[in-house]
Amino acid sequence: MSTPLDRQATCPQCGAPMTFRFAGAAAQVCKHCNFIVARTDRGLTAVGRMGDLVEIPSPLGVGVSGRWQGREPFLVDGRVQVDRVDAPGAPWQEFFVTFPQTGKWCWVAAAQGRWYSTTEMELPPGGVPRLEQLRPGAAIDLGPYGRWTVAEVGRRRVVSAEGELPRVAPPGMPTGYADLGGPDGAFATLDYGDGARPPELFVGRQIDPAVMTLDSGIPVAAVEAEVTSVVCPNCGGNLPIVTPGQTERIVCRYCGMVSDLAHGALRALRPAPKPPTDPFIPLGAEGTLRGNRVICIAYLIRGCTVDGERYRWREYLLYAGPRVGYLWLMEEDGDWKIVSPLAPGDVRVVGNFAGYRGRNFTFKQRVSASVEYVVGELYWRVEVGESVEATDYQDGGDLVSVERAPTEVTYSLCEPIGAMDLVGAFGLQARSPPPNTGGGGATAGGCAGSVGMIVIIVIVLVVLSVLMDGCDGCVGGGGGGFGGPSFGGGK
Ligand SMILES: [Zn+2]
Ligand SMILES: [Zn+2]
Repeated sequence: MSTPLDRQATCPQCGAPMTFRFAGAAAQVCKHCNFIVARTDRGLTAVGRMGDLVEIPSPLGVGVSGRWQGREPFLVDGRVQVDRVDAPGAPWQEFFVTFPQTGKWCWVAAAQGRWYSTTEMELPPGGVPRLEQLRPGAAIDLGPYGRWTVAEVGRRRVVSAEGELPRVAPPGMPTGYADLGGPDGAFATLDYGDGARPPELFVGRQIDPAVMTLDSGIPVAAVEAEVTSVVCPNCGGNLPIVTPGQTERIVCRYCGMVSDLAHGALRALRPAPKPPTDPFIPLGAEGTLRGNRVICIAYLIRGCTVDGERYRWREYLLYAGPRVGYLWLMEEDGDWKIVSPLAPGDVRVVGNFAGYRGRNFTFKQRVSASVEYVVGELYWRVEVGESVEATDYQDGGDLVSVERAPTEVTYSLCEPIGAMDLVGAFGLQARSPPPNTGGGGATAGGCAGSVGMIVIIVIVLVVLSVLMDGCDGCVGGGGGGFGGPSFGGGK
């Protein structure tokens, strides 16, 4: 464990003593002056002052130690908080996790309810495309690392950090990045820096946070224990928060005030109209869905316009714990679908077809889907009126849905689920799903190309209470099939 670099040093900015614990750390944030100090073989340099850390709850923290997969000891040696240049003020955080026995390290981050770890890898011999060449949804070939799909392209910047870091990140400097998805949950990030140095490649995968057992004995996955609450700054209502480390925006269920969550408190932004229909699954309802404990944390009504007609459907955001992350339920005309995120690398879109796990889904429709109403706890900065381009591909009753925002593309699988299954899963009183009034008078229906839906809806509503569970082949009416929104949230 010897190192050519000095372990003991003095902060060049303020003179405070510093100790470098990890040989592979190229920088450290001075505890006293908050400057990031780079160490090289020529000595130490103060690079810039970090901003104050934002409180983002996490079971990890600098100094936390444990064992990885029950074996190799690790230490959380540093933490960095990063935000998007085009959406400042909503940072996420990544942990610099070091393995003292081997000198290895990785980044660990949680994003959109899921956990990832990545390690730095050599660039492929053929290099990588330039940042400007990358488009969300495009496939890129990384040679020995295989074929990847671009999930997100953007610019970010380090706003705050603590502890040791593997490299120097000048605070505030915009750096280009691209997130990539590979098969079976593989995940990678290309970090283009400020463009003055070669890109860096980080490769990893989604992890079950239970691979980390903490010496403190606190389970990393103890998310249920994290449920806390905040007070609505407008009406004083008590609002539970299920995922405090992931939530960026809360829309008050009582008064509709839209607020940002920062530093454990809410900052009121503007009121939003309350949904005209109550959620069939109430906010806070807990249930068991496909073996996962889930809790309903948000309710949205979305719509699209086809041939001058407005169609609407309802969506429920579910949190399914740190291993699974977020799921969605959507309901249109009483047809329910469970919506699961797919790794970008698992879906291959070619022409009018989307391939997923050996299945071929055929183009069904493309719509601009916008948020009309929202209430609850969201992992992105939701806005009424925001829209994404949603493209559905169909195979039997299942859909692969591809959603494009300007800088990001997400993929999801929508599978029919019987309403009575949901009644059972959530322990609800059996009753009809909400009628499709949507507040604006227009009826819901297949988003594109569905004709004569009004008649069908009337029939559906009449028979629903009798037949709600007989809905396995819900093809037809389910338009807009539509995974979670993606813009904004998380990493
Ligand atoms: Zn200092
Ligand atoms: Zn309120």
